Amino acid sequence: MRIEAAVSRAGAPYPEIAVVDLEPPRAGEVLVRIVASGVCHTDLGAHAGRGAGTPKPVVLGHEGAGVVEQVGEGVASLIPGDHVVLSGSSCGRCPSCRRSLPSYCHEMLPRNFGGLRMDGTSALSENGERLYGQFFGQSSFAEYCLAAERTAVKVSQDVPLRILGPLGCGVVTGAGAVLYSLQVRPGDSLAVFGTGGVGLSAVMAARLAGASRIIAVDVIPARLALARELGATDTIDARAGSAAEAIRGLTGHGVNFSLNTTLAPEVFTQALECLTMRGVAGFVTAPRGEWKPAMFPMLAGGRRLQGILGGDAAPQLAIPMLVDYYRQGRLPFDRLIRFYPFKRIDAAFRDMEHGAAIKPVLEMTAT
Ligand SMILES: [Zn+2]
Ligand SMILES: [Zn+2]
Repeated sequence: MRIEAAVSRAGAPYPEIAVVDLEPPRAGEVLVRIVASGVCHTDLGAHAGRGAGTPKPVVLGHEGAGVVEQVGEGVASLIPGDHVVLSGSSCGRCPSCRRSLPSYCHEMLPRNFGGLRMDGTSALSENGERLYGQFFGQSSFAEYCLAAERTAVKVSQDVPLRILGPLGCGVVTGAGAVLYSLQVRPGDSLAVFGTGGVGLSAVMAARLAGASRIIAVDVIPARLALARELGATDTIDARAGSAAEAIRGLTGHGVNFSLNTTLAPEVFTQALECLTMRGVAGFVTAPRGEWKPAMFPMLAGGRRLQGILGGDAAPQLAIPMLVDYYRQGRLPFDRLIRFYPFKRIDAAFRDMEHGAAIKPVLEMTAT
């Protein structure tokens, strides 16, 4: 079928809308009409050629939400008309997948960043030429995409689809980091560095978990104000000096947990220095540039540094749970969203780059 998709081409400043061809679903795949797709820093990175080396030209997008239109052979759990949120691709068979930790699938890199199905084919083409896709198993910057049955998460139809895409990456990463990875419990304290979509989702989840102290750190006052509304008990403007010292000042001895959502090496240092004894510093992206942790304080305090992908969540369980929290008013992640028509993907990318929008969401269809 012919569809409109945003194609990332080498050297172009932003993805461009083009008419492309999409194959019908193969066995185990479903065709999804995308209602809306969130924009994430990983899309910006892949477009700019940073990171895992996704080939071009490619259709990016990995926070898609939409309606199942058609199912391939053997698909048993979804039918046309189902509302779905798309998550990343995983094999379902490796030791991580068997433990319900698909973010650490042994095939994570080729499946999500390789641009092709695992058999080397692409579902997308343009004027007969191969287009790369399969980005996080979806490539949802498009009117339609194909997704594997196991990574399309069926959600209840009483919540508007246009807001649900970010549950597939940004929101589940932040909320899952708190609930599943760090397992923040009532009375624990947490510092969140960087109040973008991931950081603010972590703040909301920490409130849900009953954390006694939720300290948000950023350099944008408006974001710190929003963090307060969403559950932060304290906020720190990192421009005012050492955030780790300020956190120690607030808590007396440091926090049980920190979550770093930034790339800055000096923030990695702060996120370790703010920990109390036996504290854990979670991080969701690698430092940009050289960074070496100070090993002695980690040893002497029994402190840990923990990498976290996808909030350690099993999307088929976590996403419906997050939808329930939203419906109950306990996880108002819609407050992070700014909508853009699909055609304005350039503005969405620019606003995310410059921090003017926390979570841009592209709307493919008016609802
Ligand atoms: Zn993402
Ligand atoms: Zn796997």
